[in-house]
Amino acid sequence: MVDTVGIIGAGQMGCGIAQISASAGMKVVLSDVSIDRCEAGLSIVKKNLERQVSRGKLTVDEMDAALGRITLADSTKAHANCDLVIEAATENEKIKTAIFKDVCKHLKPSAMLASNTSSISITRLAASTDRPEKFMGVHFMNPVPVMKLVELIRGIATSNETYERFAAYTAKLNKTTAISEDFPAFIVNRILMPMINEAIYTLYEGVGSVACIDKALRLGANHPMGPLTLADFIGLDTCLSIMQVLYEGLGDSKYRPCPLLVKYVEAGWLGRKTGRGFYDYRGEGDPVPTR
Ligand code: NAD
Repeated sequence: MVDTVGIIGAGQMGCGIAQISASAGMKVVLSDVSIDRCEAGLSIVKKNLERQVSRGKLTVDEMDAALGRITLADSTKAHANCDLVIEAATENEKIKTAIFKDVCKHLKPSAMLASNTSSISITRLAASTDRPEKFMGVHFMNPVPVMKLVELIRGIATSNETYERFAAYTAKLNKTTAISEDFPAFIVNRILMPMINEAIYTLYEGVGSVACIDKALRLGANHPMGPLTLADFIGLDTCLSIMQVLYEGLGDSKYRPCPLLVKYVEAGWLGRKTGRGFYDYRGEGDPVPTR
């Protein structure tokens, strides 16, 4: 039985996981590098829950109870009493392994650990902990409260008990799971990210504008959103990291990240979360293409 869930990283994914875990009745300890980051994340959770109240999907009491179950922290020490801890920090292997080394010092022996990584080897991340048998990949989709799927990825050492515990946790969140083997970017991003990268090449080579590329895939391939809109939604830094993991992990030149994606990331134009990416979101009206 999971009583308390720890979440490390209060960005778009960590906050989404915190929201649905608290709504499902679990206590949540949400940590990031500063309390300010956590508070910024919590304000988005609050807005999401308020929207559910205004649509009649949640009562004010249920919203207050869910928010009351979330505590914020700026240190991994706060995860000492957690039954499960899910890392949802920036998609960077060095950052993630440093977090695992640090949090393991404080966890109770029975605590299980997971990463929400989009692409990095679960077996390698597990090896940076003191409990590889209690470690696995639990990959939520964005936006977490809306998307039904969670990919479950076992590392080479993951025990059956760990798998069952995380499968029960995701069932309690009312999610559907797909099992993936531990290879770069798993299933969803192995297929999705090269498509997004190819859309960026299509822009880079002048085949189409941002607006035409997105319109072409929406209306020509029946995608609910265009690939460049989706890239901005995911975060261009995350897209680039996933392409680098695919390129290095599979050693095939077809995964080389588009230089234009690299340029956007170098500019700090990371998509929606920074106000600008393939579209500019800073105005009042519709997002404006930046190319
Ligand atoms: P984000 O940039 O919105 O948030 C990352 C958070 O991690 C930030 O708040 C940052 O302060 C925090 N962080 C960085 N270093 C930290 C540290 N040492 N300790 C604690 N917190 C730290 O990123 P995101 O989109 O929420 O992605 C988080 C993870 O989820 C990544 O591994 C990403 O690949 C994965 N993911 C992302 C998506 C997506 O669509 N964005 C989908 C599925 C999975």
